Amino acid sequence: MKNIMFIAPPAAGKGTQAELVVEKYGLPHISTGDILREISKEDSEIGKYVYETLASGQLVKDEITYQLIEERLKRQDCKNGYILDGFPRNIDQAYEYDRILERLNYDIGNVILINIDKKTLEKRITGRRICENCKTIYNINDENNSPQVESVCDNCGGKLYQRSDDNLEAFQTRYNTYLEKTEPIIEHYRKMNVVKEVDGDDTVENIFKNIDRIINE
Ligand code: AMP
Repeated sequence: MKNIMFIAPPAAGKGTQAELVVEKYGLPHISTGDILREISKEDSEIGKYVYETLASGQLVKDEITYQLIEERLKRQDCKNGYILDGFPRNIDQAYEYDRILERLNYDIGNVILINIDKKTLEKRITGRRICENCKTIYNINDENNSPQVESVCDNCGGKLYQRSDDNLEAFQTRYNTYLEKTEPIIEHYRKMNVVKEVDGDDTVENIFKNIDRIINE
């Protein structure tokens, strides 16, 4: 199966959609944000640096992401396809990713761009809740996507938490970072003819239907 890369502004639903692709197709979901959130819990200098950078909404240093992404992509479970969520995030990372693909002899696959406006994202960001156990993502501002009990996961009964960067101030930084650093990489992939666009201002199910169609084209 083709590899899938998601590009989308913060809180556009790329994590949720990636999980649905995982459920249906069993591909590994490689989220640099998730990996970095694990590192941010470590009681070390790097753990502290990552924690503070994530909370501020800025990007962590490129070199940190290069190492962790190449190590992860080398693993056996990625040989038959994977979902990349949150990497590359700027043009240097995109160039490095081209080199990683060459070294590992992997194909770029589909680059799925989720389009959505800023007002919708602001509403979503304050309502996002994540299960600390099974990582299911909810939104208490969206009646179609809220848990039955506000702080409890419907799937596993785990406790729901709010990300430290899911507040309006950090969102503003993350959104500006997206416009300045991440959006320019779309052009890089357009030149390769691999960009597929979906409308992110729709229900989770409808967005997934469109993504699934792209996967099966
Ligand atoms: P995400 O879960 O994708 O929204 O990422 C959360 C945060 O992790 C971002 O705001 C960045 O601070 C950091 N991060 C994730 N991926 C990258 C990346 N490829 N390069 C630099 N920082 C990243």
